[in-house]
Amino acid sequence: MATKPIIGVLALQGAFAAHKPHIEALGATYREIRKTEDCDGVSAYILPGGESSTMLRLMKVLELEEKLVTEFKTKPTWGICAGSILLAKEVLNPAQRSLGLIDCTVTRNGYGRQLDSHNDMVQNYPVAFIRAPIIEDAGTAKIKAESGGKPVWLEQNNIMVTTFHPELSPNTPSPMHKAFFELI
Ligand code: GLN
Repeated sequence: MATKPIIGVLALQGAFAAHKPHIEALGATYREIRKTEDCDGVSAYILPGGESSTMLRLMKVLELEEKLVTEFKTKPTWGICAGSILLAKEVLNPAQRSLGLIDCTVTRNGYGRQLDSHNDMVQNYPVAFIRAPIIEDAGTAKIKAESGGKPVWLEQNNIMVTTFHPELSPNTPSPMHKAFFELI
């Protein structure tokens, strides 16, 4: 019997645990990533929503960043909301360092205060935008979905980003988890 793929979910902060039922519904193993040894045997990574500046700082302080960048360069990696900010080439509002693994420019908290959080349908599936970034420029990345006239789901080589959270909706697995598994 083939062994189950292990999906590593960065678990320093934020909405990591909600991915477990989606990953398990697709027949894979969920693993929380907090130290470099946790990367052993991982097939693909999810960077969850949360606070990108905090995650960036923790990756440095915990000496995890170098290992993760090496992993993200070759294995399927999906950044969600804060995770998309970490993976973007350029970050605005305020400008912030990023890993630069997908060719796009994002504005943090791009929907502003009045529309802090909202729900929408993306490909007929209900998703949540929570203090989400706006993708200002998708560069050479492929746009997989738009919402409100802006790209919200991109893919480039082994990297996928969504500015919304699909993992908070009750149906498992979400279509975005399914699409991510096609990269594995
Ligand atoms: N506003 C957060 C940030 O800038 C992202 C919010 C989220 O991940 N839901 O990092």
